[in-house]
Amino acid sequence: LPQVVIIGRPNVGKSTLWNRLVGKKLALVDDQPGVTRDRRFGDAELLGMKFQIVDTAGWEDDDPASLPGRMRAQTEAALVGAAMALFVIDSRAGLTPLDEEIARWLRGQSVPVVLVANKAEGKAGDAGLYESFALGFGDPVALSAEHGEGVADLFEAMLPILDPLQPEEEIAEEDDGEERPLGPLKLAIVGRPNAGKSTLINRLLQEDRLLTGPEAGITRDSITIDWHWTDPRTDEPRAVKLIDTAGMRKRARVIDKLERMAVADARHAVDFAEVVVLLLDATLGLEHQDLKIAAHAVEEGRALIIAINKWDVAAEPSSLFNGIRAALDEGLAQVRGVPLVAVSARTGKGTDQLLQAAFDIRDQWNRRVPTAGLNRWFDDAMAANPPPAPGGKRIKLRYITQVGARPPRFVIFGTRLDELPESYRRYLVNGIRRELGFGAVPVRLMLRSAKN
Ligand code: GDP
Repeated sequence: LPQVVIIGRPNVGKSTLWNRLVGKKLALVDDQPGVTRDRRFGDAELLGMKFQIVDTAGWEDDDPASLPGRMRAQTEAALVGAAMALFVIDSRAGLTPLDEEIARWLRGQSVPVVLVANKAEGKAGDAGLYESFALGFGDPVALSAEHGEGVADLFEAMLPILDPLQPEEEIAEEDDGEERPLGPLKLAIVGRPNAGKSTLINRLLQEDRLLTGPEAGITRDSITIDWHWTDPRTDEPRAVKLIDTAGMRKRARVIDKLERMAVADARHAVDFAEVVVLLLDATLGLEHQDLKIAAHAVEEGRALIIAINKWDVAAEPSSLFNGIRAALDEGLAQVRGVPLVAVSARTGKGTDQLLQAAFDIRDQWNRRVPTAGLNRWFDDAMAANPPPAPGGKRIKLRYITQVGARPPRFVIFGTRLDELPESYRRYLVNGIRRELGFGAVPVRLMLRSAKN
């Protein structure tokens, strides 16, 4: 990870900033100078950007008269191999001779510097903020490390320096940096009564562990079944945790009640699942109830696949397929292009394609795109179709970063974002899906205002 060194005179808030970036309440912080004694290292993450953060406060309790010299020794050591420095001043206190001394020394170093005017909550720091331009490090970032204000601006200032240094591959990477394979695929098969859920599960398991047919009479809550699917592409077994939502409730007598229970079961299954398969009945087509179940899975951020069952008895298969595709793109526009697979639970046709599609879409659901590539795409997308300019003033979108996966979540920083039309947001979401390898998984896009 790239190293970021925090530099500044005593009591400007270096430890508070360190804590905020590391996200732990480790260091002892109060308003007295000289509380922090050692140079500390921590792994930090700021809106998806990763780095190691170093606090250089070790020299603070020395004789003030010797501070510049002591600082030089400490900080010089810390700067070896550092990617950048955060030079922190106290914007409420204004500039002091020691700040200027540090600035002079830092200007002679070859490391990129971002100037941070801390304690700038509200307007309290305005005076020091303007003064600090004179230090010669460009625009200061107004920050309140204690209150968390200005974090987006700090991110924006650091991004151009750190972005090229970000680890390229971040898939399935956890805190310890070890790559971990994804666990068993958590798969739910949902659908209206008689769509063939139990039959399909039996077929997948290749055994009659579940009872099907109108006379089967067990009512119970949903269960999970651990199972291995053999991937025909590799011949490797892949672990699946199948969630079966009482396909067996079909014994209840009142059809109306059944329909409602199908939706309730589906909701329950969606809570557990990574990937939801909505099973349709080819002899009935896509109905309102199906769209409702599908929309719920998408709203919950799950990866969705539509399977058309009973393909063995489908009349006019190709027009049926195209009709359902069109109806889905219309009724489920949030996941345009959702995978659509024809299966027959009775004959087993299409079940391997279904499992393949399920593993593939889970990979997309887990996918992370490094910030550099993401912003290259973002710039191109804005060049091809610039954001609108209501009232003659263009809405400014500055950076995008992926802040999470499962489902993929993105944040865009910019100004006047409340005026950004929904159509433009959709343009960006569709671009992310189509051009960055997210397929048809639900993508969340948040907008955050950066100051000015
Ligand atoms: P569930 O309520 O969704 O669990 O539906 P079931 O699995 O109980 O199936 C309902 C009915 O559809 C049963 O009579 C099954 O035999 C029949 N069925 C299920 N899958 C298929 C299929 O692929 N083709 C045909 N022709 N019938 C099927």
